[in-house]
Amino acid sequence: MTKHIFVTGGVVSGLGKGLSGSSLGRLLKARGLRVTMQKLDPYLNVDPGTMNPFEHGEVFVTDDGGETDLDLGHYERFIDENLTTDSNATTGSIYSSVIAAERRGDYLGKTVQVIPHITNEIKRRINRLVSDDVDVIITEVGGTVGDIEILPFLEAIRQFRLDVGRNNVCYVHVTLVPFIGPSGEQKTKPTQHSVTELRSRGIQPDAIVCRSDEPISSDLRRKISNLCDVPVEGVVNAADARSLYEIPLVLHNEGLDDYVCEMLGLGDHEVDLAPWQALVKRVEEASSVVRIGLIGKYVSLPDAYLSVVESLNHAGIHHGADIEIEWIQAEEVEGLLAAGRLKDLDGIVIPGGFGERGVEGKIAAAGYAREHDIPCLGLCLGMQVMTIEYARNALGLAGANSTEFDSRSPHPVIDLMESQRDVTDMGGTMRLGAYVAQLKPGSRVAKAYGEEVVSERHRHRYEFNPKYRTRFEASDLQLSGESPDGRLVEFIELDHHSFWIATQAHPEFKSRPDRPAPLFREFIDAALGRAEGRNPQLPSIDADAPATADS
Ligand code: GLN
Repeated sequence: MTKHIFVTGGVVSGLGKGLSGSSLGRLLKARGLRVTMQKLDPYLNVDPGTMNPFEHGEVFVTDDGGETDLDLGHYERFIDENLTTDSNATTGSIYSSVIAAERRGDYLGKTVQVIPHITNEIKRRINRLVSDDVDVIITEVGGTVGDIEILPFLEAIRQFRLDVGRNNVCYVHVTLVPFIGPSGEQKTKPTQHSVTELRSRGIQPDAIVCRSDEPISSDLRRKISNLCDVPVEGVVNAADARSLYEIPLVLHNEGLDDYVCEMLGLGDHEVDLAPWQALVKRVEEASSVVRIGLIGKYVSLPDAYLSVVESLNHAGIHHGADIEIEWIQAEEVEGLLAAGRLKDLDGIVIPGGFGERGVEGKIAAAGYAREHDIPCLGLCLGMQVMTIEYARNALGLAGANSTEFDSRSPHPVIDLMESQRDVTDMGGTMRLGAYVAQLKPGSRVAKAYGEEVVSERHRHRYEFNPKYRTRFEASDLQLSGESPDGRLVEFIELDHHSFWIATQAHPEFKSRPDRPAPLFREFIDAALGRAEGRNPQLPSIDADAPATADS
């Protein structure tokens, strides 16, 4: 019988429910249990694909092409399982299904209502993940208890326990225990209120995860236990951790996994946390620092680049290095170059993005990296701007551009693919999900991956324009990875450079804490080389040379 853990959040948003759930998932996996996870999101978008990253952070892409909530990235990185579109359901997608069924006549004669039709659909979504191959499903309910939009979800998960039996469901509530400066105390009242709210919806939490900046005392723990009617072992404290990856160890020390397993009758499995402990030790023992400039458009909201940042961290963990990210607003690049401010970077990442704003700044950064031998990694839009830069400045194709930014460019080196020309529906219509690429034998990309056929996830409309293929091929820029039919360019790399490599894909979605994405791993290696002044066979960089916008 598959067991269910439901994670809800109280008091404020942004408490790290997703991380708490993922960490619990990791702990259950460390006992040999088979775990999967899903997120229920109370907003009306059918999926987050149409949302601006400023609204909702990064859109995480699954192998099967789902555009999903960024928490799925945490899930995949912590439980080390590939999830699917089915692991994320929004209010919008749930209503769409119910309304489509109503139009088909599936409920003919009936009044279609939130209860039972919407709640049944929510339960159907939860049940989609049940299989003989899964012992535990962890379902996170997005939003905060008390939100209007969350009510159908709470009602559905309340009913769920009755449907599948009390011993098969565990409710974990994540709350905040704030420290109030003037009284010098940590306060339990917000937790009490949010548990009261949850109970008013018929859900009595089995465990409470108390987030706090400093550890809470045992008195406070007893108080929460008493007032919220949760056994004291079920009140666990997740005080701010030094690193994200420490959270599973914190929750394990607090006994959350023991408690949940006992409750759900999951048996007495041995816990093997040694690999995870070794990982956390590596994070703590990092002995060098690399400074990476991330040139983006949404840099005021780092969550917009969550998987990129995590992939950099994974590569840092691999090399024993701390990654220091310089968040660089793409529109400011030209000014920063003129002030000589990019020359101290050890590496530059140009991540994905949409729309024209900031593109010229990214192109300038790509050019600076190319000419000054600064390791540069381009991801999706990053590959497109590196292609444009090279076309303009190395191949002499004046005005080269992507038709996304200049539909009348004389040299559209990046263009819409045929299948995208007539698309009017903006939801789920890009090249999405996992695609296989064939790498050029002997290329640096092939060496990085250690194989010649690789699969990475995609999310874009525009592609390298094959009409320009021969001009690039005659230069130093290699088209080092292509789709198996040879029509689409998937990877490019520059000869005679410490690292100037880009991909049309988003390898950041497949990076794992103990298995960094190969391109990130090699990029950080090259950046470390620059930091330590050991880049092989390359002309040294004249650090004192006047830095100008075009230097
Ligand atoms: N805007 C570009 C495209 O649609 C790149 C997208 C991205 O970086 N994810 O092709």
